[in-house]
Amino acid sequence: MQRRRFIGGTGAALAAMGARPAPASPAETSSPGGSAGAPFATPAPLVPMQARIDRIVEIMVCTRPFRAAGPRIEAQQWGRQTVVHNYGHGGSGWSLSWGSARLAVELALTTREKRLAVIGCGAIGLTTARVAQRAGLRVRIYSRELPPQVRSSMATGVWSPSSRLCDEAHATPAFRRQWETMARDSHQMYQHLLGLPGEPVEWREGYVLSDIPFGLPLPEPAQPEASAEPDYADLEGELLGDLRPRSVPLAPHQHPFPVPFARRYTQMVFNLPAYSQLLMNEFMRDGGEIVHRDFESPRQFAGLSERTLVNATGYGARALLGDESLVPVRGQIARLVPQPDVRYGITWRGHNLSVVSRRDGLLVQAQGDGDFGNESVAPDRALAEAAVRRLAGLFGRGSAA
Ligand SMILES: Cc1cc2nc3c(=O)[nH]c(=O)nc-3n(C[C@H](O)[C@H](O)[C@H](O)COP(=O)(O)OP(=O)(O)OC[C@H]3O[C@@H](n4cnc5c(N)ncnc54)[C@H](O)[C@@H]3O)c2cc1C
Repeated sequence: MQRRRFIGGTGAALAAMGARPAPASPAETSSPGGSAGAPFATPAPLVPMQARIDRIVEIMVCTRPFRAAGPRIEAQQWGRQTVVHNYGHGGSGWSLSWGSARLAVELALTTREKRLAVIGCGAIGLTTARVAQRAGLRVRIYSRELPPQVRSSMATGVWSPSSRLCDEAHATPAFRRQWETMARDSHQMYQHLLGLPGEPVEWREGYVLSDIPFGLPLPEPAQPEASAEPDYADLEGELLGDLRPRSVPLAPHQHPFPVPFARRYTQMVFNLPAYSQLLMNEFMRDGGEIVHRDFESPRQFAGLSERTLVNATGYGARALLGDESLVPVRGQIARLVPQPDVRYGITWRGHNLSVVSRRDGLLVQAQGDGDFGNESVAPDRALAEAAVRRLAGLFGRGSAA
């Protein structure tokens, strides 16, 4: 049962825990200095997060474009035009984007057209445009919004390829195979984006904290009577175990947090402002064009000069195409002033709290009640402040302000 599985930092952190059998505690497996003589330096103490509500610089709210059947990646013939749909990636759009783009571009290439229109400039539209350019196409993006106004810019930005992607009933073996291909393709692409100026992508550490042993399940939070939230498919299991560094259990003296159980994990983080900028710059450098356009109806596609289109409108496809299989899943993140020395994240099991440290700030995330089916993007300040206060509790009450 993953109904309330917390996406973003937490989902990724928990996935990192479960992929393979846990190794013994480092306290049991390492002897200081080993047998070779001089000891290695002990790690420096962690710089505390300044968890104060006066340091909230932005409350970002957006919706995950969830489809019970998973992303829609298929071609349709509309008159003289071929429209390839590429939308509905739930809480995994950034993580799956490159693999999903490749599938969409393969469909587009079958038309043999040399020019491609991409509708949308979020994670999916931008990566589709880049993959198409690499395949030799001339690409024009038509979009209502550009980064940083697109919903993709409000995401957490961690590798979370199976977060709220589809429900259990639709996770057939064929779907799982396609998903694994997309995830592996994307993961490989991200390895080529490491170590670049501005650090668009980097590996960072984090701590999963728990009041009870990790082997024990947390009690399921009560669901509102009317909640239609599905059982999300648990796609990862063993499938991507080789792509994630394993988390390690820590003894109480090996971490500073006031909780009895902790594990350290390592995860891939996308610094979305720098990463989006990089994608935009590369798209323009390779001859891409961007046209500001708000489509009120798909019939307006017929007025475009391109005969092959990719529809990457994300949640916008619900209004544009009347696709009611798209369900909004609201998410909110409070961004705190950046702390460059804080290079770790936190997930506190059972306390509705997850923090990802990015170059542009500390992203503090908590779930609200009734996020599923909720398309409101109005910030909930009280929820954000409560999460920051819970975080402050991990660093001593003095930092709560
Ligand atoms: C709180 C939160 C945290 C998340 N964290 C992560 C994470 O850590 N990792 C991860 O992989 N995913 C994460 N996600 C999911 C991810 O953000 C989405 O899957 C992704 O943004 C979807 O991208 P998209 O390009 O399909 O949609 P969008 O970013 O919404 O882009 C759609 C584009 O289409 C355009 N458009 C829409 N309608 C029209 C129209 N009618 N005419 C013209 N243009 C139109 C828009 O202007 C925009 O350019 C998170 C989501 C949320 C809400």
